[in-house]
Amino acid sequence: MDFELTQEQKFIRESVRDFAEREIRPIAQELDEKQEFSIELTKKIGELGLFGMIVSQEYGGQGLDYISYIIAVEEIARVDGSQAATVAAHNSLGVNPLYYFGNDEQKKKYVPQLCTGEALWGFGLTEPDAGSDSRASKTTAVLADGKWNINGSKIFITNASASISKGSTVQAVSGEKDGKKEFSAIIVEQNTPGFTAKSMHDKMMWRASNTAELYFDDCVVPEENLLGKRGDGSRIMLNTLDHGRLSIAAMGLGCAQGAFELAVKYAQQRIQFGKPISKNQVVANKLADMAMKIELARNLLYKACWLKDNGKPFAKEAAMSKLYCAEIANEVSFEAVQIHGGYGLMKDYDVERHYRDQRLLQIGEGTSEIQRLVIGRYVIDEYPV
Ligand SMILES: Cc1cc2nc3c(=O)[nH]c(=O)nc-3n(C[C@H](O)[C@H](O)[C@H](O)COP(=O)(O)OP(=O)(O)OC[C@H]3O[C@@H](n4cnc5c(N)ncnc54)[C@H](O)[C@@H]3O)c2cc1C
Repeated sequence: MDFELTQEQKFIRESVRDFAEREIRPIAQELDEKQEFSIELTKKIGELGLFGMIVSQEYGGQGLDYISYIIAVEEIARVDGSQAATVAAHNSLGVNPLYYFGNDEQKKKYVPQLCTGEALWGFGLTEPDAGSDSRASKTTAVLADGKWNINGSKIFITNASASISKGSTVQAVSGEKDGKKEFSAIIVEQNTPGFTAKSMHDKMMWRASNTAELYFDDCVVPEENLLGKRGDGSRIMLNTLDHGRLSIAAMGLGCAQGAFELAVKYAQQRIQFGKPISKNQVVANKLADMAMKIELARNLLYKACWLKDNGKPFAKEAAMSKLYCAEIANEVSFEAVQIHGGYGLMKDYDVERHYRDQRLLQIGEGTSEIQRLVIGRYVIDEYPV
């Protein structure tokens, strides 16, 4: 077993950490307060090479392994959940379906511009009546005269309504097969007539990230905008979520790491009863538990990435990583606020933002309950009787 990161992976960690401290930390609180999605910061993140990290150089990406990408998301989330959300959603949900399932023409048309930070792409799966149950989707796409006519709506779609959003991959019901709904994944460009993207505001968390409602009202796109094969939509969307779970896990890990570091530093500086609060065994024990959970989360997540990088099945481990990293982000940031006492509840303290930002991680891209259903299926299937 080799737990050592490569020189390249270490370099990515150092350079992304340095960037996050220099460019993101000083403005994170203000962007959160103003609910401002920053185009300027997104472009800078693009210049650093954090968009299209795993895409091959042929299509404008960095051609890196998954662990490198996950380390980058972890390091951004260590400082700010909103910017980590933009990076993770764009790479995993925006670029991945086009890169993995697009034909050569589609990849050449869309992927290179999405690797620059000048353009974002959304992943339109969730609908008002279809969240965990994505097969309850009602959005329809009817093929006639070489065109898809799309009607319906999507909700909570990350990166889909910023001024640099260029389009979304959308799951739609494209017909019926053997008495069941047939789903297809369809590419919808931003300026298509009949398509509207409306920004959602007043989120508890990720307030500086872009979230949208999408509306399709006789939105007509060419037949060649079909991604993959007709009827393959559900497989494409769910496969994309397997990858997305790794990056949501990285957000949990990074958020926990950031909250932990804030708590350790604060505990050594805060004097009560004539000594730093870290000198109390109860506080030290809390810090020990936090550090242990982070260590376990990192090992599990990196193993899942290693499986993916080595072409082995990784969906079970991705679900476990997503579930565990999201849950320890909750536990660790809770204790980090507790160690800060009343100050931890004040917006001037970054730990307050960590505490809010982690809350989505147990809900987005499959709730914790759904992760347990997914993991349960795998582990039961492993022991047939
Ligand atoms: C900020 C933000 C960004 C997002 N970005 C995207 C995006 O880019 N693209 C996208 O498509 N979606 C996105 N989502 C949507 C997100 O993935 C969904 O919110 C999530 O899948 C849960 O769906 P829901 O909110 O409809 O909850 P529901 O599915 O209604 O679930 C409500 C509760 O019921 C529980 N529940 C449901 N079914 C079961 C069951 N069978 N067994 C046990 N418990 C169950 C759930 O675990 C949950 O606790 C985003 C959401 C947010 C808030």
